[in-house]
Amino acid sequence: MDATLTSVPTELLLGGCEKPAARARRFPVYNPATEEILLETADAGPDDAAQAMDIAAATQPDWAATPPRQRAEILRRAYELVELYRDRFARLITLEMGKPLAESHAEVSYGAEFLRWFSEEAVRINGRYTAAPSGAGRILVTKQPVGPTLAITPWNFPLAMGTRKVAAAVAAGCTTIIKPAPDTPLTMLLFGAVMAEAGLPQGVLSVLPTSDAAAVAAPLLADPRLRKLTFTGSTGVGKSLLAQAADRVLRTSMELGGNAPFVVFADADVDAAVEGALAAKMRNGGEACTAANRIHVDNAVLAEFTEKLTVRMAKLTVGDGTRPGVDVGPLINERQRSRVGELVDDAVDKGAALLLGGQPTPGRGYFYPPTVLTEIPSGARLLTEEVFGPVAAIAGFDGEADGVAAANATEYGLAAYIYTRDLDRALRVAEQVESGMVGVNRGVISDAAAPFGGIKESGLGREGGGEGIEEYLETKYIALT
Ligand code: NAD
Repeated sequence: MDATLTSVPTELLLGGCEKPAARARRFPVYNPATEEILLETADAGPDDAAQAMDIAAATQPDWAATPPRQRAEILRRAYELVELYRDRFARLITLEMGKPLAESHAEVSYGAEFLRWFSEEAVRINGRYTAAPSGAGRILVTKQPVGPTLAITPWNFPLAMGTRKVAAAVAAGCTTIIKPAPDTPLTMLLFGAVMAEAGLPQGVLSVLPTSDAAAVAAPLLADPRLRKLTFTGSTGVGKSLLAQAADRVLRTSMELGGNAPFVVFADADVDAAVEGALAAKMRNGGEACTAANRIHVDNAVLAEFTEKLTVRMAKLTVGDGTRPGVDVGPLINERQRSRVGELVDDAVDKGAALLLGGQPTPGRGYFYPPTVLTEIPSGARLLTEEVFGPVAAIAGFDGEADGVAAANATEYGLAAYIYTRDLDRALRVAEQVESGMVGVNRGVISDAAAPFGGIKESGLGREGGGEGIEEYLETKYIALT
């Protein structure tokens, strides 16, 4: 067994204490590069969810009353411990999720940064005090923790998607139950143990891996003691959770799917745009909600851009992410690989030109090669559905208005990227693009200090930045004479 795995707790973490699942249920976690079982972990069910809820509700008053400075210092220690154990975290992320080690290290930096960022935010939860305009009273506005929170996370960033939620909730004074994705529960279990080591009091955090998400989530969402749902995942699951949350008018934050346009205007620095596209497309093997899903290039530079991007994509090495020199790891599972294949086949059947890749790699592991398609016909599913894989789909356009229209032709609105040398155009287009985040002449935009989130069907609310902690706070108005 890989030595990293020996340090991973494999029971549930109920209020920070390890405990087997009711009826001792367990489920396997696979390495997507080898299809072998890494470990078996406890498999939470409704009984365990109920116990986690009891603990979260019982601990909430004490945790809310814990001085912000104390909450901040626990988060700061957690940041330092994640950094101290970075090799262990990075290897574990690669083993269960597949991304190359260098990218796992980048995720550890990004994920740890939320702990540091929210340790700094915990002591800056401010209200206000003003005179009523009529002169007939005073207005006191204060912030209070929203209360016990359920966090549900996806598999593509096993550490960062969790710390982005847990750090903000802990900073705000909310007890939290986190349900990681079944493909990648191990990183969150290790993180739960690190939070305990950092001094997080028992009861504040529970980690509930499960093979049956609905069986754990549905009773929690129906429980009147739960006050907040924060979800990152697909738009389809997000909609069904929103419907359940509506029954109790539960506070929600929803980080959902994306279909990011990457728009290259005629005046762009083409070489910089190619590097940016490579980062925006291939970071995390394309399995990122912010991944450039559609690359729209002005016809004036389309041929040059396509040729240069194809050359760069062809040089990427695919393989087991634990090996040195690998740029692209496997996809998360066979279902995801078949889906990528289906979207590529659909585009080719409808007339797209395949310039690179396009066939699943034979042998063990869920590998799919870097793929470039151009002349994408307007009916291709690739233009409207999230591909979540290493597939660059390039389409031409004519002029600025056409480029903006192409960018906005989607019900999603998470990230968008624009490349131009003209600052006026950059700002004009950034204002017109319907997305929560816009990268101007850069292909990677995530930053713990910036508000991350989408508009339209990409979600509700923001994570990170000054906005991130507000998602876990209620505003209370106290009227004074
Ligand atoms: P998913 O929606 O299938 O699963 C996400 C989480 O929801 C998992 O933990 C899963 O177990 C859980 N889940 C599934 N069905 C559920 C149910 N009925 N009740 C409660 N929980 C349920 O998504 P995924 O395949 O894990 O992740 C990929 C998706 O996540 C993509 O659409 C991607 O764009 C999105 N994503 C969004 C962001 C963002 O910040 N906007 C970040 C990363 C990923």
